[in-house]
Amino acid sequence: MRIQLRLKDKMTLWYTLLTLLTVTAFSCALYLMTDYVLSEMLESSVRLSLRQVVAQIENRDGMLTFEDEVPITNSAMFYITEENGSELASYGEDIPLFDAVETQPNEFRVAQGDGQRWLLLDSGVITVERSRLRVRVAGSLATNDRVLSTMRLVFFVSIPILLLLSLLGGLFIAKRSLTPIRQIIRGADRIAQGDLSARIPAARARDELGELTDTLNRMLTSVEETFLREKRFTSDASHELRTPVAVIRAYAESLRAEKGLPPDAAAALDTVIAECARMQRIIAQLLTITRGEEGRYPLCIERLEGRALAEGVAETLAGRLAEKEITLTVDLPEGLTLYADQSLMTELLLNLVENAVKYGKTGGQIHLAAGRQGDMVEIRVRDDGIGIAQEALPHIFERFYRVDSARDRSGTGLGLSIVAWIVRVHQGSVAVQSQPGEGTTFTVRLPDGPAQMAE
Ligand code: ADP
Repeated sequence: MRIQLRLKDKMTLWYTLLTLLTVTAFSCALYLMTDYVLSEMLESSVRLSLRQVVAQIENRDGMLTFEDEVPITNSAMFYITEENGSELASYGEDIPLFDAVETQPNEFRVAQGDGQRWLLLDSGVITVERSRLRVRVAGSLATNDRVLSTMRLVFFVSIPILLLLSLLGGLFIAKRSLTPIRQIIRGADRIAQGDLSARIPAARARDELGELTDTLNRMLTSVEETFLREKRFTSDASHELRTPVAVIRAYAESLRAEKGLPPDAAAALDTVIAECARMQRIIAQLLTITRGEEGRYPLCIERLEGRALAEGVAETLAGRLAEKEITLTVDLPEGLTLYADQSLMTELLLNLVENAVKYGKTGGQIHLAAGRQGDMVEIRVRDDGIGIAQEALPHIFERFYRVDSARDRSGTGLGLSIVAWIVRVHQGSVAVQSQPGEGTTFTVRLPDGPAQMAE
């Protein structure tokens, strides 16, 4: 199993690991150095003591004496023995254990005695007059051991505390330094959802992240400008085409009205008029979409009567419904209202019900229902028509997408794009369910209140 760590945790772990390594290495070095220096000091003091003791032994009239005071510190002791090992004199407490430690001239050894450790150093055989003697000096390692054990204790207590502090500090630093990145991600997320006007909040620090934010924002401005230019071109082109198409249609209609036209010419004029009508519809829809996306549509949100809306749509489409002998059932709870823009909501319902008629079967049924679901209003348009193939479903809201464009010339492929835009400006959602051959259901969900829409 691979554990996916966040950048913040990774940074903290590396930081803590580095602190652990540094502190441990530093503590070990300090400990070893202290141990070395203390041992060196004790060794040289023991060596000095041995030399001094040896130098002060005298044989006065057959009596072995010391010339001076005992020259060594009270944490040390010495023994003077005859060559065979029998003790002649000693300073300090007698520790019998040392008798068992074999003599090895000029070599340091450590022995245990009296609950502490001692550093032993033996002299070689010394001849004073006729006496052959040996001297042994023992220096206490207690101070060294105490210093080292205190150091160990300090390390054992302070290293975990230091680690904890570095962990908390690391978390804090990582969180702080990653905050601008989080802002960049959030900003980029909003832009990815289609809001090209969104910008990443400028970072306060003038560091690499601040530069990255500026660069991204500059890039977004240029992308937005290009995008707006494209939209404006579509909108300007549609606008420019409106008049010529209207003129062509008007001339074609007046020609068609003349009497005695040859049948071929009449049929050609009918085609011209039908195509002009289709073109006018495309132009009108393109203008709605581009105006909407440029934010030039003056949205007017008000409380609308659900029933009045549905009846208006049923009335507009009565002729088309009758043509295909389709029955439209409207199912709305009494007094249902919704907050929306009236003309956009009418356009949305017209598009959905018109599609249901267009792709519905002759003599079929269309069901228009709405109701409140929590703090949303849900509108459903269901038909029992040809349905939509599964693979086409993700594309039907795209501009100019039509499932069967070759066979059907009546559509423009823009109706559902307009539905999607209307839903978006109302902060709602639209979903579709379909079974080819059985029918299609479109479900629109809109927030039920101006406060929610403003969010
Ligand atoms: P059009 O003007 O072609 O209807 P739309 O954008 O309204 O354009 O719809 C896109 C495509 O989605 C249509 O061409 C059609 O193939 C399919 N479609 C839309 N509504 C329905 C429906 N109720 N039943 C079956 N197919 C539908």
